[in-house]
Amino acid sequence: MDAQKSSNLFYQSRARRPEVDRADGIYIWAKNGTRFIDGSSGAMVSNIGHSNPNVLAAMKTQMDSATFAYRLHFENEPAEQLATVIAGKMPAGLNRVFFVSGGSEAVESCVKFARQWAVAAGQESRWKVISRFPSYHGSTLGALALTGYGPLKDAFAPLFKDMPKIPAPTCYLDRDNLNDEERGLKYAEMLREEIIAQGPETVLAFAMEPVGGASTGALVAPDSYYGRVREICDEFGVLLIMDEVMSGVGRTGTFMASEHWDVRADLYAVSKGFAAGYAPLGAMIADQGMVETVLDAGGFAHGHTYAGNPLACSAGLAVLNEIDRLNLMGNAQRMGDVLMGGLNELMSRYEFIGDVRGKGLLTAFEMVSDRETMAPLPKDLNAYNRFVDICYDRGLITYSRRTRGGVDGDHFLICPPMIVAEEQISEILNILDDSLTAFAR
Ligand code: PMP
Repeated sequence: MDAQKSSNLFYQSRARRPEVDRADGIYIWAKNGTRFIDGSSGAMVSNIGHSNPNVLAAMKTQMDSATFAYRLHFENEPAEQLATVIAGKMPAGLNRVFFVSGGSEAVESCVKFARQWAVAAGQESRWKVISRFPSYHGSTLGALALTGYGPLKDAFAPLFKDMPKIPAPTCYLDRDNLNDEERGLKYAEMLREEIIAQGPETVLAFAMEPVGGASTGALVAPDSYYGRVREICDEFGVLLIMDEVMSGVGRTGTFMASEHWDVRADLYAVSKGFAAGYAPLGAMIADQGMVETVLDAGGFAHGHTYAGNPLACSAGLAVLNEIDRLNLMGNAQRMGDVLMGGLNELMSRYEFIGDVRGKGLLTAFEMVSDRETMAPLPKDLNAYNRFVDICYDRGLITYSRRTRGGVDGDHFLICPPMIVAEEQISEILNILDDSLTAFAR
């Protein structure tokens, strides 16, 4: 923090880090010569690795023609092609793509679009968007209303109307006699109860991350949860919004993580791995019929200046090509299994690892003080910062949170780029092993 005071640039309060020099594949070098493994792909962004030559070449070609052409003045081919490619990868009917520049914009687009659709469809009384606690849906005011993560939202509470929350399905903390399937249904039922409590005619949508990210550390619900959530939404005419900003575009081994459970949402938010760090890019992917309803009623009253710019879209298009060409979704699935196996092996040797979870390469572990009760480590141990620093000193970047309020626990996302090879997973696991030993000292 102090070091930041001497700079004109500031971020959130954290120690300053060395200056970046170059990046290639799963590695990033600092100017002081240190090499780091990008074990979290930044913030689960650099999904196809750094400096991919085909993506850079596509962007250079685009740069030589036009980097920006305002969407209301010109069509552009990369945007058109990218929308077509996305539509071809989504479930039937989810073939309308609205570009934005990031995850919060994508989430807010979903919420505003849902509201406009409800008005156009004669359901003006619907405006509440139920989400989960803990959760993270972005840092702009609208996305904060959905976010269930106190430290990033509490100070701004007067500036937005908070939305109703239900508990995220943190089944690994439950000590009841239910089996997995029953637990999944128990958490889904909380949505039903909340819709009824709110008054179904006022509820517009339910927003969820199919595999949790920053707030819950790769939280996966039991299989029974997903289908039941869809049924409950259908029962009350509530739209289902999948926030796939972190989980989408291949990281879990399928294009959308929600595909693992065969759930079709009405609206999807994507970003992060979409242009994989090569350009700021996000999108709302929407149901064709809903889009037609909104367009017929006068159009979607929403948009951002940089939306669908040709340079960002050329990057997104090239990233999706590379994911297919290199079969990176298959690799994410295979390497995710190897990583998960290695993390479970570490858990068998380090008692303070209480849970290992995730899907594909959206993978995490959580530290606890007691595996039986799953009590968290004491807050003043500051494990989520300390362990990240220990890994950092050994050349491994990880991503951690201690979600405060509701569920308290230090969790660590281990999410290397989808190009990661088996020997590199071993390298990551060896550094983690060494770091866990140092942490336990
Ligand atoms: N939704 C989810 C699930 C996210 O993980 C994030 C970013 N961590 C966002 C939304 C917000 O994305 P951005 O930071 O690009 O605005």
